[in-house]
Amino acid sequence: RIILAFESSADETSVAIVKNGNEILSLEIATQIKSHQRFGGIVPEVASRHHIEQITLLVDAALTDAKLTYDDLTAVAVTYGPGLVGALLIGVTAAKTIAWAHGLPLVPVVHMAGHISAAQFVEPIQYPALALMVSGGHTEFVLMESEYEYVVVGDTRDDAVGESYDKVGRTMGLPYPAGKKIDEMAHQGTDEYKLPRALMNDGKLDFSFSGLKSAVINLKHNADQRDEELNLINLATSFQMAVLDILLTKTRQALKTYPVKMLIVAGGVAANQGLRDGLDQLLTEFTHTRLVKVPLQLAGDNAAMIGAAGDIAYRHGERASWDLNAKPGLDFDYLSPDLEFKVP
Ligand code: ATP
Ligand code: MG
Ligand code: FE
Repeated sequence: RIILAFESSADETSVAIVKNGNEILSLEIATQIKSHQRFGGIVPEVASRHHIEQITLLVDAALTDAKLTYDDLTAVAVTYGPGLVGALLIGVTAAKTIAWAHGLPLVPVVHMAGHISAAQFVEPIQYPALALMVSGGHTEFVLMESEYEYVVVGDTRDDAVGESYDKVGRTMGLPYPAGKKIDEMAHQGTDEYKLPRALMNDGKLDFSFSGLKSAVINLKHNADQRDEELNLINLATSFQMAVLDILLTKTRQALKTYPVKMLIVAGGVAANQGLRDGLDQLLTEFTHTRLVKVPLQLAGDNAAMIGAAGDIAYRHGERASWDLNAKPGLDFDYLSPDLEFKVP
């Protein structure tokens, strides 16, 4: 199976060709970060315009790099949600057009399933598996009892963790997106500011990050009032220590509740070095669970992960008709059976 995959849900336009769901034959990514940076976040209209400009060029490049033609393809896979509607529509329309013109099946993919499936480029996913899905728009535990089943068993009640990195970064005067920079700074300081951690001892799997973000904003506000400077290295350190404390405490709880064969950490924030190290450490407590960290270059948005998820969806008979539309608020609902999980 050779799948041509599209991703355009936010500010990366990406096209990839993926073989059998685990081998990247080509991967093209056009990032728009520079265009959005001066606005401090993604401007939807600007994103759509860039997607339109890039997408056909990337298809040509993907085929050329893989040394393939349309005749070699088995199917076309595309992210149809969640994300920005105008941005999603570009990928969906391109995918539909190519699938229709070349008589190929069209496979609809949920963006977060894509993030999680990037694990397949490391090793085959073993079920039951649990994903810690951490990105700009999501912070959730996704339980997969078997392939092509996704049940959200823990979620954020307010901000996503990547979003809180970006908002804290903005408060600190860092360019968007700030996650990577804060991560680097956090390895150089001390925990001077002792920031709050919410919902830590409730034994449940939900998250809350808005209090932590507000605490940073208040610190900055109070410092400005008094004409004082914050130590930004220490602030980044305190912030990341709070984030990691929350994520690792909840992951320990999740693995006690669901002693799965594999834990997958996925999404843009899975690139966080502190989190990767922290999970390595945590998993020494869970000797029956294998940890798979998605590769650093495939943690953020890319079409290779959509090809990996598309391959799974394709094998399970998932097909879209020609009226497939972008679904900005899409979630896993339609792929969530009732849980049967039994603790062994
Ligand atoms: P979603 O996948 O939920 O729809 P998204 O696609 O916008 O959201 P991703 O592209 O998966 O999100 O991830 C981007 C986020 O990852 C940004 O918030 C960015 O700051 C964060 N990020 C990237 N690298 C790091 C890092 N090293 N540490 C922390 N956060 C990071
Ligand atoms: Mg992005
Ligand atoms: Fe994403």
